[in-house]
Amino acid sequence: MKVDWLIVGAGFTGATLAERIASVMGQKVLLVERRDHIGGNAYDEYNEHGILVHRYGPHIFHTNSKKVWDYLSRFTRWRTYQHRVLGIVEGKKIPIPFNLNSLYAIFPPRHAERLEEKLVGYYGLGAKVPILRLRENEDKDIRFLAEYVYQNIFYGYTLKQWGLRPEELDPSVTERVPVYISRDDRYFQDIYQAIPGEGYTAMFRQMLRNPNIKILLNTDFREILDEVRFNRMIYTGPIDAFFDYMHGPLPYRSLRFEFVTLHQEWFQEAGTVNYPNEYDFTRITEQKHLSGQQLPVTTLVYEYPEAYRPGENDPYYPVLREENREVYARCLEEAKKLKGTVLFAGRLADYKYYNMDQAVERALKLFEGEVAR
Ligand code: FAD
Ligand code: UDP
Repeated sequence: MKVDWLIVGAGFTGATLAERIASVMGQKVLLVERRDHIGGNAYDEYNEHGILVHRYGPHIFHTNSKKVWDYLSRFTRWRTYQHRVLGIVEGKKIPIPFNLNSLYAIFPPRHAERLEEKLVGYYGLGAKVPILRLRENEDKDIRFLAEYVYQNIFYGYTLKQWGLRPEELDPSVTERVPVYISRDDRYFQDIYQAIPGEGYTAMFRQMLRNPNIKILLNTDFREILDEVRFNRMIYTGPIDAFFDYMHGPLPYRSLRFEFVTLHQEWFQEAGTVNYPNEYDFTRITEQKHLSGQQLPVTTLVYEYPEAYRPGENDPYYPVLREENREVYARCLEEAKKLKGTVLFAGRLADYKYYNMDQAVERALKLFEGEVAR
């Protein structure tokens, strides 16, 4: 078999690049995927109860990029959806990210009022303040609040999710969920927030419906290197594995998902409920909130964090911290030696904590810069 491009991995990164190369350049692509399906970690499927579930954890699309939104809108209609998350803190359900409503849910009104006044005074209404920065405030009331939020919302959750304390990770990790000086209870504030109308897998099918794209599932790219001839390659898997761990393994974090179906219409009032302090799982998501389906049964997914063990489970998250940045930099040096014959992109290959829109944005940029040149 002879193709122009071999693309490894059929997630957002690989699918976007395959689509662009096939439709804009009219070149032939072989998209090879180890799993038995397209879609990468955004893959969704109907379970035996007819509920659309996300096999690799809840995926909510959100972006401020009109370019990404317009691009994906060619392949799907959207169901508008604003994600809300509650956290169980001292037995109460409070809005996450911690915001002014959370403040009133936790503290007596007079105390909450004083804290609100101080927060607004220091940061201004609408500000988003990372927890590690809030802890450095000079005011002792604000520091008390920061300590409360750190201990009750971030510490236990982060320890479960990463096996590390918040300050042992790159600050960008906990900055994803900043304290929000606002009454806005939504998890994201992006301009575009939605779920693909027929689901993610259906959207990927549309992206990849081009005669120039051939898809090979259930196959590690190494198995076919002798049989396929190609000019260039794009690799979206873990970068350390590509180089046979020659600079040591690059840690990724994994998860175990447990799906539970209950014979009742609803289980919880928000899409996701976080459990920072109790249990071994971090959060429960009720799939029907995301799919918008109306059914008498409901399916929940529990997320149990665990170490990534190559060959045994999947790498889901890069572990962003200084010591890992060095290993990644050495992999990048190896990548440069290949002089553009192999391009690396995606959450696993770039070792970046991309959301879906960022993976698409990265792929579109790579296409415009390195691929279509
Ligand atoms: P992936 O989706 O990981 O695709 C890479 C593919 O490469 C995989 O399918 C893998 O099997 C394949 N592969 C790897 N090695 C090989 C090989 N040797 N041979 C063949 N195939 C190979 N983002 C959001 O925007 N919103 C969310 O709500 C959200 N929730 C998330 C929840 C969880 C639990 C997780 C883990 C992620 C979430 N994300 C979310 C992030 C989102 O999943 C990623 O941004 C996106 O999947 C990245 O796409 P990708 O193509 O780079 O990587
Ligand atoms: N986080 C936390 N408590 C929460 C929510 C988030 O400590 O209630 C921290 C935790 O370290 C987590 C990070 O913020 O890994 C990013 O959270 P996000 O919800 O963005 O994680 P993802 O959806 O990517 O798993």
